[in-house]
Amino acid sequence: MHVTSSFAAFNSSDELKPYQFDRRDVGAKDVQIDILYCGVCHSDIHMAHNDWGFTHYPIVPGHEIIGRVLSVGTDVTQFKAGDLVGVGCMVDSCRTCSPCQNHLEQHCEQGMVMTYGSPDPHGADAITQGGYSTQIVVDQHFVLRVSESLDIKAVAPLLCAGITVYSPLRQWGVKPGDKVGVIGLGGLGHMG
Ligand SMILES: [Zn+2]
Ligand SMILES: [Zn+2]
Repeated sequence: MHVTSSFAAFNSSDELKPYQFDRRDVGAKDVQIDILYCGVCHSDIHMAHNDWGFTHYPIVPGHEIIGRVLSVGTDVTQFKAGDLVGVGCMVDSCRTCSPCQNHLEQHCEQGMVMTYGSPDPHGADAITQGGYSTQIVVDQHFVLRVSESLDIKAVAPLLCAGITVYSPLRQWGVKPGDKVGVIGLGGLGHMG
């Protein structure tokens, strides 16, 4: 176990407060990440306020995570200590259903494991806890490589707001020169 400092919501109305909890041990396929930056997504605020009615407290929000690898499990080949990496909205899925086999883990038939607020299949805590914290342990399959040449604090929002805008552009085959409309200038719209 790794004692982790964080900021957590303890109820739907108060400010976030310091919170300590244990991250799981680093398993064979896990990557342990020292968190450097974490974006603030509006979903974080909805979850902290229990706007969707399924928040379990205390909850540590944050699913736009940028950090450096601290250690890796014995079966991890894609990452090593010191690598710059990111973690987005999900940290696990069943890996066996049709969507998972087709790289659509967000549509996992069992339900994806969200970075925070999902029942934790590894059982270290009752629910998964997110990136408003000093470190996180994530299966390598859900860890992304981040280029050292980028402004890493500006990269963090790409991991939720960015991918959410990128997905429809990719889905519809948008290419340079095409004309598109962006409705609204919130977190997603300004990324668009
Ligand atoms: Zn988000
Ligand atoms: Zn699945």
